[in-house]
Amino acid sequence: MKKFLLFILCCLGVLVNTEAAPENLNKYFDTFKNGFINDMWKMYPDWATNNGYHKYDGELIIPNDKDRALQNAFSKKYLDSLKTFTYASLDNNNKTDYHLIQNFLQSTVWALGTAKEFQWNPSIYNVSTSFAYIVNENYQPLDQRLLSIYKKLQNVPAFYAAAKANINHPAKELKELAIQQNEGGLSVFENDLKDSVAASALDDAKKAAIIKRNDAAIAAVKSFTAWLKAFPDAGGRSFRLGKKLYDQQFAFDVQSKYTVDELYNAAVYRKTYLLTQMEEKANLLWSKYFGTEEKPADRLVMIKSVIDTISTEHVQPADFRTSIEAQLPRLEAFIKEKNLVEMDATKPLKVRDEPGYMAGVAGASVSAPGPYEKNVKTYYNVGSLDGWSAEKAESYLREYNKYTLQILNIHEAIPGHYVQLVYSNKVPSIVKSVLSNGSMIEGWAVFSELMMMENGYDESPEMWLMYYKWNLRSVCNTILDISVHTKNMSKQDAMDLLVRQAFQQQTEAEGKWKRVSVTHVQLTSYFNGFYEILKLREAYKKKMGKAYSVKKFNETFLSFGSAPVKYIREMML
Ligand code: ZN
Ligand code: ZN
Repeated sequence: MKKFLLFILCCLGVLVNTEAAPENLNKYFDTFKNGFINDMWKMYPDWATNNGYHKYDGELIIPNDKDRALQNAFSKKYLDSLKTFTYASLDNNNKTDYHLIQNFLQSTVWALGTAKEFQWNPSIYNVSTSFAYIVNENYQPLDQRLLSIYKKLQNVPAFYAAAKANINHPAKELKELAIQQNEGGLSVFENDLKDSVAASALDDAKKAAIIKRNDAAIAAVKSFTAWLKAFPDAGGRSFRLGKKLYDQQFAFDVQSKYTVDELYNAAVYRKTYLLTQMEEKANLLWSKYFGTEEKPADRLVMIKSVIDTISTEHVQPADFRTSIEAQLPRLEAFIKEKNLVEMDATKPLKVRDEPGYMAGVAGASVSAPGPYEKNVKTYYNVGSLDGWSAEKAESYLREYNKYTLQILNIHEAIPGHYVQLVYSNKVPSIVKSVLSNGSMIEGWAVFSELMMMENGYDESPEMWLMYYKWNLRSVCNTILDISVHTKNMSKQDAMDLLVRQAFQQQTEAEGKWKRVSVTHVQLTSYFNGFYEILKLREAYKKKMGKAYSVKKFNETFLSFGSAPVKYIREMML
């Protein structure tokens, strides 16, 4: 039935091209999008579950040749259907959706045929996250969720058997990550799931059947990690992606206006600029904090001394959460006073304690409802430092000191992620909420920090110095990612970049090295989005002349939803 409907849809597409008026064309494109998304959920049930679409919760796809052939066929079919729509006649919302769908399908074909991570990245094989979601999220009565789990568990042994058959030259770092994450994920089956079965009202026979499949799943995970541990390191692929694949993946994932080389040069340029600014501010502050003490001759040492000193200004561990909460109304008042961007009073941000399953990540983050959860609120999760050792809390609070804690709030909430999200939700497109552009989203948050500073949020040299240090972090993330994956940067040089040249703590830099050795491209998204938005603003200012206003720029930019900046640019200019 489903296939038949699709066939009709494709035909509609052809008709549309020649006969439909633009209004109808957009209507047909909406129908096409819905068909595409429904088909996509069937193809990627875990992804559907995570987006709050629960029709396929019981499905677990076995990652074998047959599945890869299906994904290829799916991608090619929809790429063909896309061609039947006249791009130029679509409205702005549909134009960006067109690009997002096309990019997703092309990147799928590329990932399976060219990058082939399924052969060398064992960490992509981990079933625990989707099971954890179904067990822990209360979107349906427990018994109903357990029946989905019962069905889904059936394929776990075949899932890991296929993983073993696929992997032939794993990167050592990714093999270790896969072992660590799969072992960590075992608690979902050994604890969460067993507890849920015990607490459910299902009959004993059903309970026993679930437990039996659960035991087989646990055995399959353990057999996979044991197999990985025995896999020889020799002959494995390097974790470094390499220039050719990196350029291609960057184009698909970031969808930037710039090439990798252009972005790299921009980041190096920005780093030089930031260090000059930091030197100036640190010079201004020297006598305030060090009196007549002689300045270190090395400017990096001098800047670091000032940063270390002002980082000791921070809240007490017990006041961490309340001080984050207290800042939100102040940020909102500042935005109103300076007329920076309209905020929707009907969509308030609810502050809540960080839920248990997120525990351990102190600080703050925004939880947004998925596209199928319209009635769920947007939460600002704020963690506490309860139970932390004094030493750990002190080091964390120096990182998130009086100054950077405010930048964190700007980035995560106002006018960063939360404000962007409210605007994005006004562009009702399921495509944009599912295939949203991460670089635009992170870029906006990073841009909003600068925008607040430019408008006089806090003009003290201390705040500027800490802002520059914060901004330098995303700049160095880009330099690091490109250098490690395409220029063979050593760990030693990476640590020098982060610790000596970007003033990071040793532990933070160690964590970043670990991240760059198990991910690629994602670390560039922050600076790329920031840089693209800055460049767009420059061009927009020129175009608008006297009619330019900060508020108009911000609101127009946000009104296109979470689309790649380069397409927003086309529409704004
Ligand atoms: Zn302290
Ligand atoms: Zn962010």
